[in-house]
Amino acid sequence: MHNLIHLLPDAIANQIAAGEVVQRPASVVKELLENAIDAGASRIDVYIKNAGKTLIQITDNGCGMSAQDARMCFERHATSKIRQQDDLFNIRTLGFRGEALASIAAVAQVSMRTRLHEEELGVEVEIEASKIKNQQPWAGPGGTTFLIKNLFFNVPARRNFLKSNPVEARHILNEFTRVAIPNHDIYFSLKHNDTDVYDLPPSSLEQRIVSLLGNDLRGKLKKVDEATGYVTIHGFVGDPSVHRKSRGDQYFFVNNRFIKSNYLHHAIAGAFQDFIPKETHPFYVIFLGIDPVHVDINIHPTKTEVKFDDEKTLYVLLQSVIKQSLGAVHNSPEVDFHQSDITRSIYGTTQQRKPGDITIGNYKPKVSPQENIPKGFDWDQLYGQHLNPAAGKEKKVEKTVEKAPTLFGNTPVSKAQIGEEAIIAQFLHSYILMQKDEQLYLIDQYLAHQRILFEKFLKARAGKNLPCQQMLFPQTMEFAPADFVAIREVDSILVKMGFEVKEFGRNTLIVYGMPSGIASGKLKEIFDQVIADVKEAGTTQVADKLFESVVRSVAMRSAVGSRQKMSMIEMKNMVNDLFRCEVPDFAPNGKPTYKVITAVELEAFFR
Ligand code: ADP
Ligand code: MG
Repeated sequence: MHNLIHLLPDAIANQIAAGEVVQRPASVVKELLENAIDAGASRIDVYIKNAGKTLIQITDNGCGMSAQDARMCFERHATSKIRQQDDLFNIRTLGFRGEALASIAAVAQVSMRTRLHEEELGVEVEIEASKIKNQQPWAGPGGTTFLIKNLFFNVPARRNFLKSNPVEARHILNEFTRVAIPNHDIYFSLKHNDTDVYDLPPSSLEQRIVSLLGNDLRGKLKKVDEATGYVTIHGFVGDPSVHRKSRGDQYFFVNNRFIKSNYLHHAIAGAFQDFIPKETHPFYVIFLGIDPVHVDINIHPTKTEVKFDDEKTLYVLLQSVIKQSLGAVHNSPEVDFHQSDITRSIYGTTQQRKPGDITIGNYKPKVSPQENIPKGFDWDQLYGQHLNPAAGKEKKVEKTVEKAPTLFGNTPVSKAQIGEEAIIAQFLHSYILMQKDEQLYLIDQYLAHQRILFEKFLKARAGKNLPCQQMLFPQTMEFAPADFVAIREVDSILVKMGFEVKEFGRNTLIVYGMPSGIASGKLKEIFDQVIADVKEAGTTQVADKLFESVVRSVAMRSAVGSRQKMSMIEMKNMVNDLFRCEVPDFAPNGKPTYKVITAVELEAFFR
């Protein structure tokens, strides 16, 4: 009889474990950063080549390791952080399973140089696929440098599975950010290829947040600070003017470790409810300090979920603390921010309330009426160059316009398509009422325009670039580094759609031109939306999908808003363009573009 069971060789066991710990270059960055912090470093420099696929190099000035530890640290379950079981329940350092280095060394070529500060000479260890290749004395500064080369060189399936460089780089930026925020007293730098992405001297939390997440936050962060016996809550929330289009700029840290919690996010979102537009997300960086006995310690290194033993109390507390910092506790909203500004006029006031007039507590929304009701939108650009929407000129202009190029620049409007009398009126400056084949059409102008633009842009994918309209004043735009990476990921798509964009120094773009027919005032909104969608769509993007989602975001933000007066001609042109679309019935987001009421329905109602 022979035995079948034997122990896996270490190298294989490590490779299997690596599958859990090391998913992508960003996981390596996270583990090494956490180790450097646990080692007491006051300065950590990160250098990345080729989105971490070729090289991840992290240098710290922490405690360093002895020659023996330098070998030991690559063993599985080798850790200096837990000695007895009790430690497990009081753990406050970042790593503690002693798995990270063993896992990384199983799937990469690693070189580590380290020196204890009190020793004269350090040591360099080279290890590849779990095998020590070389060990030699090393003379260098106190601390540790890891070089992780050719990640997954021995696991081709994993290597092929990695995403494009911009995507992997973005993951690295995310991990870096999640570590650099709570450790704002540590000097961090990050360099990617030839670009200095970050240089972050020790600073206040507020300053660190601004440096990492964007200058637009400067002066717009509200402090949060509260302590009870159970928990301390501190950090910053963005004032309502800095809301985000995507989830992603929301950070929770529990005992300085980044976590995700939909439940707690909900608490904060609730506090912001009356302050920021629907479908946007608040910005926040919140630290919870809590005795580890009240938290289900997250023993898995890659998981970011946690459980609290008294979640409900935490929810209520957090929400009220955030409300307080927004100044919302004693000043309840005067009016619902989202309420239609038209409804009030029913009660005798003819003057419409504009969003800019609304005050909520001490907060006055920063949107000017013009931004929401873009009176200055250039209809000439959109529907033929000769059209002047000024009242009274419609008749004279009509003839010109019928021949003028439409949005697609080809087919002129023909009377046969929609009769002269078909357009009835504009309702609430938002809906086009139209009669067609004995039916009443109620067309949502905003959604209709989205559909028109969407199909126009989509056509660019196969063909040549859409025409670009040069801007009179090129606009420079500065981005947070992660946003910049996201935009660069899709810049070729933007060019196809008719944008002309050039990189201009660090995290800055100059926009020279835009697709014709779009108001330049919309530029920031458009880019914000694109960034939000690219970030949200994240890692699963195939080229076609990505193209479509960029097109969708641009169409959405470029479309004329609701509450915009249109002349009969403009409405007619829009309707014609809409029904020339391949899918006129739905906006790109799936919402219907119009509603039909038939004569039969009306008859049934009245008779
Ligand atoms: P863990 O962090 O869970 O202990 P790791 O595999 O990440 O496990 O690291 C193993 C050990 O190697 C650590 O416990 C620590 O003693 C040592 N070590 C790792 N990185 C460093 C570093 N940058 N400086 C000093 N010691 C380090
Ligand atoms: Mg570790």
